[in-house]
Amino acid sequence: MFSNGVKRELTWLITSLWIFLFIGWLVDDWLSFLILFFVFYIFRHLWSMRKFEIWMDGRTQKSFPPASGFWSELSYLVSKKQRALEKHVDINLYKSEQFKAASMLIPDGIISLDQMNKIEWFNAVSKEMIGVRRQDVGSKIESVIRQPDFIQYLRAENSSGSIKVTLPGVQARTYDVQLIPYFDNHKLLVVRDITELYQLAQIRRDFIANASHELRTPLTVLRGYLEIMVDHREQLPDWRLPLEHMDTQSHRMQAIIEDLLTLSTIEAESITSDLEDVPVPSILIQLEKDVLQLSSENHRFNFEIDQNLTYKGYLEPLKSVFTNLVSNAVRYSPDGGDITVRWYKNKDNAIFEVQDQGLGISKEHIPRLTERFYRVDKDRSRVTGGTGLGLAIVKHVLERHQAHLDVESVLGKGSLFRCTFKINNGS
Ligand code: ADP
Repeated sequence: MFSNGVKRELTWLITSLWIFLFIGWLVDDWLSFLILFFVFYIFRHLWSMRKFEIWMDGRTQKSFPPASGFWSELSYLVSKKQRALEKHVDINLYKSEQFKAASMLIPDGIISLDQMNKIEWFNAVSKEMIGVRRQDVGSKIESVIRQPDFIQYLRAENSSGSIKVTLPGVQARTYDVQLIPYFDNHKLLVVRDITELYQLAQIRRDFIANASHELRTPLTVLRGYLEIMVDHREQLPDWRLPLEHMDTQSHRMQAIIEDLLTLSTIEAESITSDLEDVPVPSILIQLEKDVLQLSSENHRFNFEIDQNLTYKGYLEPLKSVFTNLVSNAVRYSPDGGDITVRWYKNKDNAIFEVQDQGLGISKEHIPRLTERFYRVDKDRSRVTGGTGLGLAIVKHVLERHQAHLDVESVLGKGSLFRCTFKINNGS
């Protein structure tokens, strides 16, 4: 019924009361001894309280203060709790040391940032990679990595992607930097050295750009002669079919070269070149007229455009995103199909959507659609003048805008291509 402390106190109280009363009975003055007992009892409590306070205050090294009754139980319970807490702190300290030791071994640079993007701690690798020093703890990360691309990425707080940052030095190195949110608005900045990979990719990009550029001039000459011959095909009846075939194929070649050059330009341009106000509604009005021609008026178009919604971005690349997606909807939809194009605001995003009732795409192809030259239906792509590069261009342009593409499709029913742009894209 009683707790240990109360039991101890009662035992102490009854025993000492009996002793006082017994002495009082012996000297025949039990009332004085009863009063003396109460005075003693109150004094004992005050004395124990003082000792307890000194002990709690840490002014004595004793594990627990000498006390009796309720106070001895209380100090025992407090010191037990204190030991448990110390053990807990030790475990946490051990875990945190273990985590820090492990983070030192990770080959990537790791920097922890607080809510204000101030450096909290970093591992040894990040010191070597980006030169963050002990005295930088507490300063903003922007004062260590002063790259405009990085600052823009940091402000956009886009945790889904990463950016490439090239830091100057004796030997400039390129890093892949990713911001990962964790615990209570804190962020981990993971920095990976991709210099060798980047250089290889650069060699490949340069090769493709140079090859396409070199092919462009001879092809223009060939196409010039071909066009003359096609115009005079009536005089060469045996060559009529081969000439028409050569003409179609040379058109395709030219389209592929143009798309490769577009892709190289988009890849080469830094994301720091100036953003401009893109009048998306007027671009889409013009596009509506152009696609009517492309579809030879065989499709029904429905353009649902928010006339007031403009976007800060790169004009020409964005035009090619809109054109590629709408022309795909035309090319992969049977005659008579409905095609809906939408441009609207949803929370902090501007959305561009193209929905068709065409062939649709089965699930396994969707993740690969943006690869260069990946085609679900090669024949249809060729017949309709596809290059296999349209969606690769779309993907790269969206990456430059830190936007993303979602594809929903049901085979035989149609597809929906959705581009999501953050309106507050650091511009
Ligand atoms: P292409 O020039 O061949 O159209 P893209 O890169 O634009 O190349 O598209 C890649 C492939 O994705 C296409 O070959 C096609 O198979 C598929 N695709 C793209 N858009 C659609 C669509 N709206 N409906 C069905 N399939 C599509």
